[in-house]
Amino acid sequence: MSVGIRLEHVSKRFDHSVKGEVYAVREVSLSVEDGQLVTLLGPSGCGKSTTLRMIAGFEEPDAGAILIDGRDVTHVLPNRRGIGFVFQNYALFPHLSVFENVAYGLRVQGRDERAIVQAVGTVLDLVGLAGYERQQPHQLSGGEQQRVALARAVVFEPKVLLFDEPLSNLDAKLRLEMREQIRALQKRIGITTVYVTHDQEEAMAISDRIAVMDRGSVVQEGSARDLYYRPRTEFVARFIGRTNVLKARVLSSSQVETEGMSIAFASGRQPGDMMSLVVRPEMIALRAGGGPGPNGRIVQVTFLGEKTDYQVAFGGTMLQVVMSGLASAALQPDTAVTIDFNVDGFHILEQD
Ligand code: ATP
Repeated sequence: MSVGIRLEHVSKRFDHSVKGEVYAVREVSLSVEDGQLVTLLGPSGCGKSTTLRMIAGFEEPDAGAILIDGRDVTHVLPNRRGIGFVFQNYALFPHLSVFENVAYGLRVQGRDERAIVQAVGTVLDLVGLAGYERQQPHQLSGGEQQRVALARAVVFEPKVLLFDEPLSNLDAKLRLEMREQIRALQKRIGITTVYVTHDQEEAMAISDRIAVMDRGSVVQEGSARDLYYRPRTEFVARFIGRTNVLKARVLSSSQVETEGMSIAFASGRQPGDMMSLVVRPEMIALRAGGGPGPNGRIVQVTFLGEKTDYQVAFGGTMLQVVMSGLASAALQPDTAVTIDFNVDGFHILEQD
């Protein structure tokens, strides 16, 4: 049966030899519903791994509480928490076969041989490694090794599954494949999961919900769509996807001004109010030929096949624009362009 995880005001400090005392995690509260996959996403050093390690019991919080299945496990040993952990470096035993790597935890628990053979067979099947029982880790590809690590984590039917950057040692193509496999497996067995990554695309692809962390705190939590379309801060807007953040002033109920140009946008704010507008690159279309209304000059064109990226000088700022399909061949560097903003996609930041 799957269970929920709750973190209540969890903090962790370290005495760091270079930085002095650091708050690796500060007052983090987070709920993971039964069977959900929640990703902790953020830049290096923001406290993701420390948070995960506290859920696992490898680190003890200085303050706050951790509950699994409603039970306070804050001071419970890792092996008493019913957790499966998948590490970045797989952490397989190099001298043991695939079978023995997966069976290891069950042997430690003293399960009988028949039960072990059955359980290992079932999970190797589940991760697509039936027939690999006798292989040694060095005979496996990186993706296969990671699948052994996954099988080993789920074989004793943990209540929750924790992943710490499990794909970062794999090449780009394998990463895509493995993240789909992890997600499919997680859904199939319906296991509550916390996943750590610094890769926003991976987080968006794999998660039910994402908690964005910055300097030890969760700054926003929600679905990938929430975070993409309704980021609360510029940090979140820039971390999830590419973006333009325009400083704008309200001219009237239907007009705002930015970079010296006016745009028809009913902001719902008072004339004179200042705001930061998040405008995603795909919310902008370009037409060759400058004219009245918002206009700019193309600085750079990057053809990427299914889409083309443009950098457009717009007043004193540089706009990022993405257009797909047969974008006009006339849109070359140094072309004057008219800029069509899809204002339905504008989002006003709550905080600057
Ligand atoms: P990365 O993606 O680089 O692994 P992260 O977001 O997982 O980063 P953490 O590893 O949780 O970040 O580290 C958060 C902060 O705590 C960092 O400033 C780090 O230097 C510090 N830190 C983590 N573990 C320790 C430790 N054992 N001793 C001292 N400082 C630590």
